[in-house]
Amino acid sequence: MSEIVSIKAREVLDSRGNPTIEVDVTTDKGVFRAMTPSGASAGQHEALELRDGDKTRYLGKGTLKAVENVNKKIAPKLIGLDCRHQESIDNLMLKIDGTENKEKLGANAVLPVSMAITKAGAAATGVPLYVYIGELFGEIPFRLPVPMCNVINGGKHAGQENSIQEHMLMPTGAQTFTEGIRMISESYHHLAKLLKLRFGAGGVLIGDEGGFAPSQIVDINDRLELMLQAVENAGYAGKMMIALDPASSEFFYDGIYKIGAKSFSGGEMVDFYVDLCRRYPIVSIEDGLAEDDWDSWVEMTKKLGRKIQIVGDDLFVTNTKRIQKGIELQAANSVLIKLNQIGSVTETLNAIKMAQDQGWTAVVSHRSGETEDAFIADLVVGTSAGQIKTGAPARSDRNAKYNQLIRIEEELGSKAEYPGVDFR
Ligand code: PEP
Ligand code: MG
Repeated sequence: MSEIVSIKAREVLDSRGNPTIEVDVTTDKGVFRAMTPSGASAGQHEALELRDGDKTRYLGKGTLKAVENVNKKIAPKLIGLDCRHQESIDNLMLKIDGTENKEKLGANAVLPVSMAITKAGAAATGVPLYVYIGELFGEIPFRLPVPMCNVINGGKHAGQENSIQEHMLMPTGAQTFTEGIRMISESYHHLAKLLKLRFGAGGVLIGDEGGFAPSQIVDINDRLELMLQAVENAGYAGKMMIALDPASSEFFYDGIYKIGAKSFSGGEMVDFYVDLCRRYPIVSIEDGLAEDDWDSWVEMTKKLGRKIQIVGDDLFVTNTKRIQKGIELQAANSVLIKLNQIGSVTETLNAIKMAQDQGWTAVVSHRSGETEDAFIADLVVGTSAGQIKTGAPARSDRNAKYNQLIRIEEELGSKAEYPGVDFR
């Protein structure tokens, strides 16, 4: 028996300076702490993030109600339970909430409890977190991910409207994860030099995910050219691929997509991506289409699905009901995985399993508002998902995850596998 002795939540700050929730779960093995992240370009179908709405605190973004839900509604029912019973504890929290979208407790109350329970369970079992997650998931947890590193931030993460959100580099030509991170870091600094040369200090302003946010370059072609130039200057031409997350729900208005001054129908957006993929080494596009524009997703998957990875983020919101629909329609071939979109570890593992059972990929992801909690690093190895998206190789909220993966790779030694070009 590894009994939960106490559960305590508090309000702390995330990487954007907004309040978020931290939970301490205490067992006889110690105190296990987890924090919940928060999105900016959040999907409409995500589980509810409970905010106080009291304008006199944190501009209405306070999280005291969610904190109280943990301390008064969740904790009393969980104290005394065995922390290794992840699934039944998560199910119990779903029952206490009783709604489809965690509207009563808030996903931001349930998730940090669920994650802290996983950490306590790992300690009770006497194994590292990634091994324990592997045991919960049923995989041999030895696969490191290829990182998707967001070096140019646009859209809501950079205070821009009608703009592609994420321009990412993937070190597919590296031999190990650690080498991949070095390649990314060097390319990132070469990109900084190019931007500074062209735009001065204003060129190297930073967005929410640690990437550069130069408002001067609006055109996607200019952004991608600069990234490839930086990669070449770093000496990695041909060893780095590109992934995009346009986050297009953010520039979708009554059936029309707007990027800069241009307007596109769904079909025209698909053709826009087909053309981009012809001209650049793009291997993955996430949320190229809006969260309920299913027909255009199906068209994009038909036209590009054999060539590239088509990832649903706002489309699927880590929810098995929506992933099931996507599988039936063949609307994508990959699912973005964000714990707080669905709100518990068990449901997240089920979403990854559903994708993988279908031969789809699962890409484990951070949120634009992050914390120092590196849980997703262990999650991606434990599920052998093979890909992680957690921002630029800068700012400690992002590097907490990359650094944990470097440690895991070191610990695994010769057992560590890095998929490189075989990330799919
Ligand atoms: C994303 O859209 O994939 C993302 C990480 O952004 P956010 O957390 O703002 O939804
Ligand atoms: Mg996204």
